[in-house]
Amino acid sequence: MTGAWSPTARTRVAAVIGQPVRHSLSPVIHNAGFRALDLDWAYVAFEVEPGAARHALAAAKVLGIDGLNVTMPHKAEVAASVDRLSPVAEALGAVNTVVRDGDELVGENTDGEGFLRSLDEEAFDPAGRRCVVLGAGGAARAVVHALARAGAADVGVVARRPEAAEAAALLGGRVTDESAVADADLVVNATPVGMRGVTGLHREPQLPLDVERLHAGQLVVDLVYDPLVTPLLDAAKQRGAATLDGVGMLLHQAALAFERWTGQEAPLPAMSAALLAELTHRSDP
Ligand code: NDP
Repeated sequence: MTGAWSPTARTRVAAVIGQPVRHSLSPVIHNAGFRALDLDWAYVAFEVEPGAARHALAAAKVLGIDGLNVTMPHKAEVAASVDRLSPVAEALGAVNTVVRDGDELVGENTDGEGFLRSLDEEAFDPAGRRCVVLGAGGAARAVVHALARAGAADVGVVARRPEAAEAAALLGGRVTDESAVADADLVVNATPVGMRGVTGLHREPQLPLDVERLHAGQLVVDLVYDPLVTPLLDAAKQRGAATLDGVGMLLHQAALAFERWTGQEAPLPAMSAALLAELTHRSDP
């Protein structure tokens, strides 16, 4: 890694657009990757008002920005505004990565594939397995779609709003209730329940399901990565289940975007080390 890099007139730029975006971990992950490969690229964050994503895309085109990530609340607006969509982004109606192809901006979605890669690292193959996904928002929809495409035998969607659950289930699952967790091989929390600051973690443990349903032989994944050990993962471990935090998905969805933009294999160890250092730093009291 070079310690002497600084941007020049030739530096290529990637960015994330979102609101709020100042907490985003993407600049830390991608800049660590650029530095590790000695690429003359920089990654920054732009706070973009809801409804203004299409203007941000037009600006990206004019300014020659070479890669964009898209986070809340812009994923659907960007899907409606890019020149083309990948099949996955089209199915999800949501874009988390924009790639430049000549004069065109192509909307892609790396969340589901990032999730599958994080499972792969745990040597868990969803093919033929029974899965339950808690939640029906953007992350849940990407996970349901990815699990179905990976050949899961059953993908149950558990969510508090029936219409949202039905819409997510259309991506390759079926609506079910929490009782399905007992028979599942894989349980994925795709709600924010357990996240620091959002659900009052320090006052009482926040759990997205009745943990009595969890048992040995299951893999329990929490997409929440702050804290790294959520109340759900803690309880799952105590009940003998295998556990996986959300860092793997976060890292792999970024690595996939990095590879699409730069054409280079993402330096995962450097990106992972920077991400974990930042998360550790943020969790310091
Ligand atoms: P969304 O807001 O799109 O969806 C959240 C889902 O959780 C909705 O179905 C929502 O239901 C449900 N929900 C929210 N609060 C509760 C609650 N108290 N009880 C039951 N259900 C609830 O968020 P995302 O899908 O974008 O993100 C969900 C979580 O996943 C976040 O914590 C996020 O940080 C994490 N995430 C992690 C990623 C990673 O790479 N590890 C990637 C993306 C997200 P309703 O619609 O009724 O409110």
